[in-house]
Amino acid sequence: MKFDIPAGARKILQTLAEAGFEAYLVGGCVRDLLRGVTPHDWDICTFARPEETEHCFAGQRIIETGLKHGTVTVLVEGEPYEITTYRTEGPYSDSRRPDYVRFVPNLTEDLTRRDFTINTIAMDLDGNLRDPFGGVHDIKAGLIRCVGEADQRFQEDGLRVMRALRFAAVFGYAIEKRTARAVHENRAMLDRVAEEQINAELRKLLMGKKAGDVLRQYPDVFCQFWPQLGPLVTLEQNNPWHCWGGWEHTIHAVEAAPADVTLRLTMLLHDIGKPACKSTDEQGIDHFYGHPAVCAQLADEMLRALKFDNKTRERVVLLVECHDAQLQPRSQVIRRWLNRLGPEAFFQLLEVKWADSMGQDPKKVKDRLAELDEIKAKAEQILAERQCLTLKDLAVDGRDVIAAGIEPGPEVGRVLGGLLKRVLNEDIPNERKILLKLIDYSSRK
Ligand code: ATP
Ligand code: MG
Repeated sequence: MKFDIPAGARKILQTLAEAGFEAYLVGGCVRDLLRGVTPHDWDICTFARPEETEHCFAGQRIIETGLKHGTVTVLVEGEPYEITTYRTEGPYSDSRRPDYVRFVPNLTEDLTRRDFTINTIAMDLDGNLRDPFGGVHDIKAGLIRCVGEADQRFQEDGLRVMRALRFAAVFGYAIEKRTARAVHENRAMLDRVAEEQINAELRKLLMGKKAGDVLRQYPDVFCQFWPQLGPLVTLEQNNPWHCWGGWEHTIHAVEAAPADVTLRLTMLLHDIGKPACKSTDEQGIDHFYGHPAVCAQLADEMLRALKFDNKTRERVVLLVECHDAQLQPRSQVIRRWLNRLGPEAFFQLLEVKWADSMGQDPKKVKDRLAELDEIKAKAEQILAERQCLTLKDLAVDGRDVIAAGIEPGPEVGRVLGGLLKRVLNEDIPNERKILLKLIDYSSRK
């Protein structure tokens, strides 16, 4: 079978072969070619020692940062290619990098150190495969299976726990039984993994088409790095809107959100504070008064703990805080929200509310979904008409207020803010003449 291999990767394989060194494409790129997906990076493994590889590519741009671990990165037409000498790994005492690596003389030994069978296939330039662990079979079967003894593999490196879940979520593969058991049993290994690494895997996982199934099957793993999820996983909610418990509702909401990190994280965390706010009335109905603020606080704490960037964190926290807001399909209300959140966050909030509704009793949410559509259409119209939404859009500014005799200072802002509020509410039009009159009136008060 012929595969589409970029010219740069071909050239590297050829150069190594001409110098007498065995070399293969390996790992993620081969897996993705076999899945029929275009690889996003191209890793090459070779018998050549790093210094021999460097010698082969003398005169080309080389990055030496991985040299200690046997990796030489060669830039071909601006594209980086990692060329790694066949190697085994020592233990991972900090779960970031192996304590040491040792070069080995053959491909199979190199493949043995890799995590899952689907990641252990090597391919030469002609498309011939080396597949000692049945990776092709597992790709066809859609299975994540550890190479060797699963328990031991997760104990060597806890990040593999997250990688297993990530591949399952993104590819829609099942995790093979023994591997799945070992994932559960070794979840505490995640305590030794750097937050940034968990973060990177979690982002990809949540974007996966089967993220919901993974959340459903492995809540214990998520609780390992986010123990705050624990009470939500077991939360029951006896409430007419809800046909599911807290976790199943959350999962439905995650599944209903577009594949976007901010939105998926928001749905995962939107009800995180509900258990802390639960009360039950005389009729046995559960209520969660004030939960959005508690959810926002907890979400902030959790995103900080996993070292999410400020932009993502702040947006998720804002959306969590507003997820229960009463939006109505009235222009006045929509303009106020557009003013408060800005268009981007406002439309995200509509997605959040849509996904949240999809996690509730389907029989009861039809009207709500229709209303959200109406709000969206109205908001788009407001923006298309360039209606006044912020102080910048107001037909008067600070200079006008000062010219009317109001002292420069906070009073200027108050006058403008008051005018904006009335314009948003359609009490007055955004017309300079009228606004100037009103300013004049305020200045005489
Ligand atoms: P992606 O599509 O995210 O790039 P990948 O499997 O290619 O997935 P990389 O981090 O690029 O992931 O790693 C390249 C290869 O190195 C993997 O396919 C696998 O063979 C091996 N590998 C990566 N991380 C580990 C690990 N933690 N333990 C064992 N082998 C690993
Ligand atoms: Mg890769």
